[in-house]
Amino acid sequence: MARKFFVGGNFKMNGTKESIKAIIKNLNEAQLDPNVEVVIAPSHLYLPIAVDAVTASTVSVSAQNVYAKPNGAHTGEVSVSQLKDLGLNWTITGHSERRAGGESDENVADKTKAAIDGGLSVIWCCGESLEEREAGNTVAVVEKQLAALAAKLSGNDWKKIVIAYEPIWAIGTGKVATTEQAQEVHAAIRKWLKAKVSDAVADKTRILYGGSVTAKNSKDLAKQPDIDGFLVGGASLKPEFVDIINSNQ
Ligand code: PEP
Repeated sequence: MARKFFVGGNFKMNGTKESIKAIIKNLNEAQLDPNVEVVIAPSHLYLPIAVDAVTASTVSVSAQNVYAKPNGAHTGEVSVSQLKDLGLNWTITGHSERRAGGESDENVADKTKAAIDGGLSVIWCCGESLEEREAGNTVAVVEKQLAALAAKLSGNDWKKIVIAYEPIWAIGTGKVATTEQAQEVHAAIRKWLKAKVSDAVADKTRILYGGSVTAKNSKDLAKQPDIDGFLVGGASLKPEFVDIINSNQ
């Protein structure tokens, strides 16, 4: 089946009120491929500004992270219901920069489930380190991350998941995975979904590639049969983000 192309922009801990408004103005005024779903993720602080600023009908706003527990005594955290209160429908979970800060596969699965139960869709991230790749463990690492997620989700929950495969060695390094390397892991993820979840979930779930995507490499990556879009970090802050969004044309 045709899966709608999806491009996420992870602004990470970057930006100011003015720069985020300028990035969004650029998106609002650009000719964006109407067949691409775009989701941008500024820091929590700037979410209300972003929600107010977006007028492009294909662009939504996402959080970069969420807490698994309901509102209560959790200093410094942000809940699913607070994100919903702002009008958000998306969050990222399990970004490698958060996993590196101590989030386990289980923590990530718990917050993903809480987000879905609370009405959010989720860009769930997975991916291996350079050491794991060089040891030949890439697929095993990603399958372990997927298994922890699948253990918490029911069949319908998968409709709210977009998977982002982001090899850690490619994030922010300028070292993009080759089209073959990315396609190979994307195909392995789809095969795993087919074997462990269902044919329908394998067929319908969008699998994004993330890791030093730029306007230069996005067109070739977008041609791969199992690459359904991108999660973009650094380049999402630049005007070339528009070219990445339009790279499936
Ligand atoms: C990311 O932060 O998810 C990412 C892929 O970053 P970059 O595009 O900068 O490598």
